[in-house]
This record gives sequence, C-alpha cells and structure tokens, in this order.
Amino acid sequence: MTSKPTPKLQPATIAAQAAGQIDPQTGGVVPSLHPATTFVRDEDYAPVVEGNVYLRSHAPNGRMVEQVLAQLEGAADAMVFPSGMAAVAAVFRTLPAGATALVQSQIYWGTTAWIRDFCTRRDITLVEVEAADTDAFATACATHKPALAWIETPSNPWLRIVDIAACAQAVHAVGGVLVADMTTATPALSRALAFGADIAMHSATKGLNGHSDVLAGALSCADAESAMWQAIRIDRDTAGAVLGPFEAWLLLRGMRTLPLRAERMSSNAQKLAEYLSDHPQVTEVLYPGLPDHTGHALACTQMQGGFGPLLSFVVKGGAQAALAATGKLNLFHRATSLGGVESLVEHRHTIEPHTGIPEGLLRLSVGIEDAGDLIDDLAQALGQ
Ligand code: PLP
Repeated sequence: MTSKPTPKLQPATIAAQAAGQIDPQTGGVVPSLHPATTFVRDEDYAPVVEGNVYLRSHAPNGRMVEQVLAQLEGAADAMVFPSGMAAVAAVFRTLPAGATALVQSQIYWGTTAWIRDFCTRRDITLVEVEAADTDAFATACATHKPALAWIETPSNPWLRIVDIAACAQAVHAVGGVLVADMTTATPALSRALAFGADIAMHSATKGLNGHSDVLAGALSCADAESAMWQAIRIDRDTAGAVLGPFEAWLLLRGMRTLPLRAERMSSNAQKLAEYLSDHPQVTEVLYPGLPDHTGHALACTQMQGGFGPLLSFVVKGGAQAALAATGKLNLFHRATSLGGVESLVEHRHTIEPHTGIPEGLLRLSVGIEDAGDLIDDLAQALGQ
C-alpha cells in the first residue's frame, strides 16, 4: 500500500481515488485484500514491514479505510470497528464507574437501550435530554457536568437536528467531551468535527458503505492525543473489537462512491418528501430538507450537498393504514437499516412499540433509484 498526502482535494476526489492508495506490488488501482493474521520478522527480529505484527492491532485493510475516512472527516485519526454498536461501546467503555453521561433522547433505539443497560451495570449516572432543544442541553450540561455527551443528528427516526457547535460549547465548558453519531449524514453531507465535536461516530453499515453488505462502525477524532482516544485505541487493540480484512476491503470499495450516492439519495429523498407533504393520506413529513421542518435553518448551516437519505412520514389511519401501505409497496423493500443504494421502508412502531413512535409512522431510507419510479410506487401504495 502506498499513500500520498492529498490535503487540498475535495471529498469526491479523495473517495473515488481511495486517498491515492495504489497496491505497491502490482500497481493495481484497487487496494489489495490482506487476510494475513500475523506478519513475519527478519533475522534481527524486527518486523519486516514496520508496524505489522499481528492483525488484532495491525490491520492493513482497516488502516486504508481509516486513512480515507480521516481525510473525508477532516479528522486527526480514525478507527473502524466490527459494527456501529461496537464503536458506541468503545466510547462508553472509557468512562470510569461513577461518571456522568448526557445522552440525547429519542435517538436510534439500539443505542439508547445499550447505553441504559451499560450505565446501570457500570454505576454511571445517565441523563437523557432532548438535545435539539439547545437550551435544555446547555442547562443539563451545567447541572450535571457530564464527562461525555452523546448526540445524533439528523436523529433516527425523528429527523431532529441538533446544533453541534452549541452542544460542543456547553459540554466543553464543564470539561466534558462531545461525541456525535453522524450515521445518517455521513461525512459527505456533514462533518461534526468542523463544528467542535471531539469524536464523530458512524454506523458504517449504513451510508458509508452504502451497499447493505458490510456490518461496520467507525470513529474519527479531532485530537488523536486525547486521553479518551488513546483509551479507545488500547481497548480496541487489546479487547479485540476489530473489523475483519474482507469487511474493511468491501467498506473501502463502497466508500469510493460515497459523495455521489449521498448526493443522489438526498435529491431523491427531497423529491419524495415534497411529494408526501402534499399527499392527502399523509399527516406529517419529517425531513430536514423541507422549509417547514423545525431544524431546516440549522440543517442548512450544518449540512452541505443535501439532507440525507432518511425521512419519516405519518400515514392517516394509524398502524393499520401504515402497514397496509407498506404491504402494497413494490420497490421499497420492507426491511430495517438505512443508507443503502436500494430504498427501504420500515414500520418502527412494530419494532419498538414502547418508545413513543407514532403508530402511523413509516420510515423510508431512500436509495439511488429513479425518483419518479419511487414516487409512482408510493402513489399506488397510498392510494393516489
Ligand atoms: N447509530 C445509528 C444512528 C443507527 O441507525 C444504527 C443502526 O441502525 C447504529 C448506530 C448501530 O449500528 P450497527 O447496526 O452497525 O451496529
């Protein structure tokens, strides 16, 4: 692997050229897959390739992904993990018993559920707050002085927009760290570190990979020397939550088209959101690209090139009507997850009935298909 520094290039160029990585042995323009779990030493017992000893700590394919991601994020360093939840856990495991964590309410349910359980087991005080309400977030920071604050913007599935810069200021004022789950946006649309977050987190399973064929997670940091980042690195290397070489290779392949996919998904989602806003069977559309969305103005400052693939809407008639509509869809696959090239529909209330999700809410992950075809499919399913 060779890598040239490319600091001035735009994200589309960095991604398409995998940050300039060419296989040194073959000259191949596609980075090679390195499945070796162990690496040889020479007669003097020095590693033949500096830094390569054992796969758990030294993963050539993982490092390639990390280099590209760090450049896309404008980050000092990046780390990949075997799932998004492994990345979430890696951050929280750095908190000592007795610490306080401030977490945005109504974010991805899997994150909330795991954090609640972990904090109980670890004797960590957990405070949940509606972080899209900047004043409420700032008050919670001043009152509870969290060591770690966790936000998710746009949030899944409510599409709330959180002011990253304001949150960073509030948590830094009490000596804490801000981590932002940017899964929905990806660095192609929003870079949390540029707004003052200390760490950006992604479920790379989603838009970063974009092809629904890799389970992975990622963290990027503003300061690679910070105590939290160092602790995460040691924990990953020693506890072993590392991404396998094939998954890393596939992920890098997916990331090469990230800016293109993010742009197309966003423009498709925008068209669908506008169509659904005028539909008589739809009572509400949650999409930050709509001018009447409460977070629209903020999203315009924090996101560039589009508002992402995720949108939710509420069907008139509750759960029965929403489920009937999903049953009639032909192009949208009835499946969980988001950020893949194929469009998905999900009735979240079926998955998490006790979390306050409206019974008529359908969440769409809009893919890169033809927008007209997707609108026609929604039209026939909703009955217009
Ligand atoms: N964060 C968000 C916003 C998600 O949507 C998800 C998964 O849906 C995760 C984290 C967890 O990621 P993974 O499923 O890759 O573990």
